Amino acid sequence: MKRNLFNLTKEDLEAYFLSINEKKFKATQVYEWLYQKREFNIANFTNLKKEVRDQLLKDFTTDLISIEKKQEDNLVKKYLFHLFDDNYIEAVVMFHDYGASICVSSEVGCNMGCKFCESGRQKKIRNLEAYEMVEQILVIEKDLNIRLKSVVIMGIGEPLDNYDNIVNFIKIINDSKGIQIGARHITLSTCGLVPKIYELAKLPIQINLAISLHAPNDNLRNSLMPVNKVYNLATLKQAIVDYLHVTSRRVTLEYVMLDNVNDSIDCALELASLFKGLNVYVNLIPYNETEAQEFKRSSKNKIMAFYDTLKKNGLNATIRREFGGNIDAACGQLRGSMKNK
Ligand code: SAH
Repeated sequence: MKRNLFNLTKEDLEAYFLSINEKKFKATQVYEWLYQKREFNIANFTNLKKEVRDQLLKDFTTDLISIEKKQEDNLVKKYLFHLFDDNYIEAVVMFHDYGASICVSSEVGCNMGCKFCESGRQKKIRNLEAYEMVEQILVIEKDLNIRLKSVVIMGIGEPLDNYDNIVNFIKIINDSKGIQIGARHITLSTCGLVPKIYELAKLPIQINLAISLHAPNDNLRNSLMPVNKVYNLATLKQAIVDYLHVTSRRVTLEYVMLDNVNDSIDCALELASLFKGLNVYVNLIPYNETEAQEFKRSSKNKIMAFYDTLKKNGLNATIRREFGGNIDAACGQLRGSMKNK
């Protein structure tokens, strides 16, 4: 069966060329066609001999996932993609003053089961292959005729539950002959799969790590995030400390503000005492209410009070600017609305 060419890291492609008795620099030429010239028709790779192109055509496709639906306003464009096996995934583009960023999905569905999250209600069907993540970027860049500045792996799915494909995806988009997204412009968000955080720390490409924390103690976190029963806060904190030590990169702690659940001043004090002194900052996320969930968004006043308490107690914090609330852009909602049809 043919493989998708966008699934291959440059090293994979070099190994392929060696296996067909060709020089490995041809991998760089192919990468230049795909990612710099954006020529996806292998027959047009004119600096490769005809026989090599024919062999590539026999072994690979460059088929792209297709746009099923698009919703947009000024700051956000949200895409629903149709995959080759008739599954659907979503990606969101956000426009900032420094350029556009994309939030990519990493799995079809998600098994983490966080109580407040729409994606978690739709069980994981399968991992995404690296090419399906790469193509979220390529198809959107083509559709909008732009180049994306940064990539956040924060869409549907738990990226560290699809570790090998995620690492290949990161290698492909970070490659100097590939899409050329710098490591500092790539962020991976995880609910806290501790063993994989230790692995990620050793990756030569040092990306930004965001941890979905959402609670400052095990009792509360257990009630919101089943993963905490496997890797509790102390274990998770130790993995964060290790990540900081190995990479010297600041870690983001995401904290979604749920009314009367995790937004009290006591919670803020507990959070500050747990993490102060470490090179982390807390990103407070106004909860995107969904029809299916019982959770409510904290009021602006409560978010501000929480923020002030963190700051006064030595923990850096920001409040996430809101995107896409009015176009179903919150995690899993577009795919969810598709399924209900
Ligand atoms: N599984 C990964 C990445 C996907 S979720 C993770 O857990 O980090 C991306 C982020 O969106 C997580 O922090 C998640 O907790 C948060 N989130 C989920 N549903 C949300 C909602 N309705 N409103 C705001 N944030 C939400």
